[in-house]
Amino acid sequence: MQYQADSERYGQMPYNKCGKWGLKLPAISLGLWHNFGGVDDFENGRAMCRRAFDLGITHFDLANNYGPPPGSAEENFGKIMQLDLAPYRDELIISTKAGYLMWPGPYGEWGSRKYMLSSLDQSLKRMNLDYVDIFYSHRPDPNTPLEETMMALDHAVRQGKALYAGISNYPAKMALMASKILKELGTPCLIHQPKYSMFERWVEDGLLNVLDREGIGSIAFSPLAQGLLTDKYLNGIPEGSRASKSWGFLKPDQVEPAIEKVKLLNGLALKRGQTLAQMALVWLLKDSRVSSVLIGASSVKQLEDNVGALKNMKFTNSELQQIELILSGEKFAVKKSVPIEKIIKKEPAASKEKAVVQNTESTAPSRGDFILNLAKRTKKQ
Ligand code: NDP
Repeated sequence: MQYQADSERYGQMPYNKCGKWGLKLPAISLGLWHNFGGVDDFENGRAMCRRAFDLGITHFDLANNYGPPPGSAEENFGKIMQLDLAPYRDELIISTKAGYLMWPGPYGEWGSRKYMLSSLDQSLKRMNLDYVDIFYSHRPDPNTPLEETMMALDHAVRQGKALYAGISNYPAKMALMASKILKELGTPCLIHQPKYSMFERWVEDGLLNVLDREGIGSIAFSPLAQGLLTDKYLNGIPEGSRASKSWGFLKPDQVEPAIEKVKLLNGLALKRGQTLAQMALVWLLKDSRVSSVLIGASSVKQLEDNVGALKNMKFTNSELQQIELILSGEKFAVKKSVPIEKIIKKEPAASKEKAVVQNTESTAPSRGDFILNLAKRTKKQ
């Protein structure tokens, strides 16, 4: 039977501005990196896309190399469009990227104009689309002038093959340079796609500030640390999970070292009446500079669980403090009154990032300052 989207699909999902731009993204977006390739069950991927759209997820993120094999996620998404979603094309934000290896020879990866534009043509063909909404440079290329890669993005937009330009995995300084070049070219940068989760916080050391100043949105990829920030690995590595698959990017040896923190975070999430996955997602969304969190899922059930996060997006100060302590790995040291200066020495240089908790404009302290303040308060009590 022909798919009919849920008429209530816009009832629950918040849509956030992407930086200063008019385009809004759903608070939760769906990525097709894993579980949508040629090796995966097509009907499962199709069911996830349909359910996602019914839940208000309007943004689907792809890249030329998603699969395996590379390209197969775009092919499968093209089929899903044809079978189900094509009537809703104007309600969808579809993105793709170019940067990683796609074909042999000197023009099959990185950031040359030749590679970027050929790759976009191939992506459009695989997805059977006239245009994508966002075309990304997937990674910075140390051997190609930034101008060349940015000119390729600008050209893609001018050709009408992409509506907006984006960058992914660019460190703060390079992101700023890219933004300036794109502005000069007349195709300003819409969005940056960095890895960002409770376990991966490099963006807090400058990138988010740059994006804020430049009016660029951000979409956090792997917000669940590929599944580590869920209750999935609490009792080992289950069969069928990403860490158990030979083609997955989460390796078994990454699981064990994280489990102690995962257990503590899971306990805190349960106290909040949420799953750990839900808490990890809304913890990112508390910062208004994060336009969307870009999740992956291997089942409709996971997708529903994750969207359920939006029912409780508030954190108390005490919960935020507990999360910081758990992530610092010093929970027990603080309890045993280890001098706080010792803890702070291990923290990265304090960053003066501004964070907004629940739409309240407030200057949140850096991680180091946060622990220091906490210790001062504890001493007073
Ligand atoms: P996540 O961190 O959200 O991890 C997704 C995985 O976590 C799922 O496949 C599933 O693992 C597990 N999971 C999700 N929800 C639940 C739940 N509720 N309960 C238990 N387990 C759960 O994101 P991804 O790493 O998949 O990345 C998301 C997207 O980000 C990609 O699809 C892609 O679009 C983008 N991305 C971009 C990159 C870039 O360089 N720009 C790089 C990587 C990703 P399992 O399969 O084991 O069930």
